Amino acid sequence: MNRTQSVLVVDDEKQNRGLLAELLADECRVILAKNGQQALERAHELSPDLILLDVMMPEMNGYQVIQALQQDDATRQIPVIFISALDAPADEERGLDLGAVDYITKPFHPSIVRKRVRNHLLSVHHRHLLENLAKIDSLTEIANRRRYDEALESEWRRCARSASPLSLGILDVDHFKRYNDHLGHAEGDQVLRQIARKLSSFMRRPGDLVARYGGEEFVVLLPNVDADSALALANEIRASIEALALPHPSSPAGRYVTISMGGITAVPSGGDVDPQFFQEADGALYAAKAEGRNRVFWRRG
Ligand code: GH3
Ligand code: MG
Ligand code: MG
Repeated sequence: MNRTQSVLVVDDEKQNRGLLAELLADECRVILAKNGQQALERAHELSPDLILLDVMMPEMNGYQVIQALQQDDATRQIPVIFISALDAPADEERGLDLGAVDYITKPFHPSIVRKRVRNHLLSVHHRHLLENLAKIDSLTEIANRRRYDEALESEWRRCARSASPLSLGILDVDHFKRYNDHLGHAEGDQVLRQIARKLSSFMRRPGDLVARYGGEEFVVLLPNVDADSALALANEIRASIEALALPHPSSPAGRYVTISMGGITAVPSGGDVDPQFFQEADGALYAAKAEGRNRVFWRRG
């Protein structure tokens, strides 16, 4: 049983919904909808992993439902299995042509429905694993830039809707070229791993994200965090990296590995991320470097 996966069962007949819910109860979490409209709403809100969709329903039939699902960015990716009393090959072909991953005819055999659902849920699980793997940095095993870009887009919109502040910090290892030159690239890699692990320990609320932006630069994204709190956290982060006490024999900024951080807090507006947001944080980072490194500069947008 995989309780983290969910299946939306759409059927206008109560008895069928009950039957399907019962036979899937051991496989996944089951969500029910009794008509097309309800199906679209629940799919949009609850993002099920799979949809079992009846074809013949009053008002909106299954073919119309699958087309509407494909119009919505939030539901386009969800695989659909038709369950239908229409058992002619042409009906099945039509369902598959519309983008369904499978077509099961009624009356169905419970154990076969269960096994097909199990197989499709396994595929969904594998697809999610691959998608997540593509968003993880292989050296540090934290989020990579792709994941950060996606998170920034969605948190930007979310904060714009709720008129909440969004904070972004960019941090860069001080004199890291000298570190590599003195102690070797492999030691440098170890430093990046330790910094990543330390940064991750500061991510405490849902939505907080730390990512490796590239090279020896990391980003910290903090939705619903105001400038004062973000600056306080940034200072804690800076101090905690210095406190790792990783010797950096050739650093003009101190005995140990240190970081500089630039940040920005703003209340987003509009649907698209303003490129100025990142540039402001980057400008603050540049200023922190110019002022002597191992420090944090923060801007308020
Ligand atoms: P600054 O204080 O101005 O940031 O100086 P810096 O030497 O850190 O900056 P610079 O941009 O000149 O050099 C960045 C260095 O980071 C050079 C590069 O070899 C190193 N670096 C980038 N990515 C990696 C990596 O994945 N592993 C290791 N070991 N080093 C890396
Ligand atoms: Mg750099
Ligand atoms: Mg650097």
